Amino acid sequence: MVVIGLTGGIGSGKSTVARQFGSLGVHWVDADDVAREVVEPGTPALVAIAEHFGENILTDDGALNRANLRQIVFEQPEQRAWLEGLLHPIIREELIRQLHPSDYALPYVLLVSPLLLETDQHELVERVLVVDVPVDVQVERTMARDTNSREQVERIISAQMPREQRLGRADAVIDNSLPLDRVLAEVRALHEAFMVDFG
Ligand code: ADP
Repeated sequence: MVVIGLTGGIGSGKSTVARQFGSLGVHWVDADDVAREVVEPGTPALVAIAEHFGENILTDDGALNRANLRQIVFEQPEQRAWLEGLLHPIIREELIRQLHPSDYALPYVLLVSPLLLETDQHELVERVLVVDVPVDVQVERTMARDTNSREQVERIISAQMPREQRLGRADAVIDNSLPLDRVLAEVRALHEAFMVDFG
């Protein structure tokens, strides 16, 4: 199975493009979803987190209190290191598992991740596909989607890899500044090329 990494900054259109590939029958795994799934109630990771930090790290209904956890790891780097040491191998294993679905006829799958290039997740992929828009479009679309201020969005963007650097790592680029039907045409063309390359 060939794994293609789909990445881009916040609001660049990763989820939108992933759904378009999905409409063509392509299986995709969202790394952010997996990171949430592995700490859902009842998971071994959440049990370990509650043992380590105490029950206060859970909400009344037994879910992870993310705001509390964020605060702790923000203030205590050694706790951040502990948490990453716990979750990193669990997330990686779960990503690999979900990237290999049974009963799947196509030769490739997508790993969708905002931090593909910043983390070792890129080691899981054979090609890098970047969803690209100019930064002003990225800001406008993220503000329209989330209820964040321009400043918050700009702060998130400046903490991510700069656009040019990301494009420099791309094997292929999708221009998502276009209307959605034009983007779908780009997606179809790439899909056909991948089917030939990996089929
Ligand atoms: P990401 O997953 O990279 O954060 P999304 O796929 O959620 O980005 O896209 C960000 C916002 O922009 C969403 O509200 C989405 O509907 C919108 N959007 C994405 N692509 C386009 C496009 N080509 N034209 C117009 N709006 C778009």
